[in-house]
Amino acid sequence: MERPKKPLTIAIDGPVGAGKSTVAKLLAQRLGYLYVDSGAMYRALAWKALDSGLDLRDTHALADLAHEIRIEIIYQGGDLKVSVDGRDVSQEIRGARVGRASSLVSTFPEVRQRMVELQRKMGSGRGVVIEGRDIGTVVFPDAAVKFYLYASLEERGQRRHRELERRGEDGTLEETLEEIKRRNAQDMGRIHSPLKRAPDAIFIDSTGLSPEEVVEAMMEEIRRLI
Ligand code: C5P
Repeated sequence: MERPKKPLTIAIDGPVGAGKSTVAKLLAQRLGYLYVDSGAMYRALAWKALDSGLDLRDTHALADLAHEIRIEIIYQGGDLKVSVDGRDVSQEIRGARVGRASSLVSTFPEVRQRMVELQRKMGSGRGVVIEGRDIGTVVFPDAAVKFYLYASLEERGQRRHRELERRGEDGTLEETLEEIKRRNAQDMGRIHSPLKRAPDAIFIDSTGLSPEEVVEAMMEEIRRLI
């Protein structure tokens, strides 16, 4: 039997392009758990802010928006459907522009507070695999299993570049590398809930590994810990 007896909270943090989403989905499927992409929530908020023409540095307006916005995330048949106030924005939130904006709006503590509250509601009391930047450190510091997923900058750049190409976005590999370096520096350097490895998080380097190999390594750790 693959599934642990007691439903667990499994936290996965790491930089952009480390493979968190792919691996978290597979792991959740394998365990029959809920999958939560916390980054999609920051992206949804950033999308709404851009769409409403808000000044992305207006903390008060963003805090209000974070409380008013209705974000729905449904993971079904391998696809994540994200809707904002009833509108399907699953595709729109994945672009580079929204990515940059999400990294900016997520620096504000008022925004984070609300998102953390929503994430805890979604994940509490059930088996969940939740991925992001502050899951093991802030959202679920008592998670039963924590992973910090890493990959070399080159590999992360290539993965992200392929993803943007698939979406039909322009840009060279070098530009994508610069972009993820910038976004990561912002995520790791911010004052509130920066991306960092929780002291009790298991470090996994996914460079050169397939998603299945990473999931296998994670399953081994889960079996070992539980
Ligand atoms: O994971 P993803 O790249 O979609 O996240 C978009 C942005 O949202 C990140 O660059 C980060 O700034 C922010 N984020 C965060 N905390 C999380 C998840 C994402 O600050 N738990």
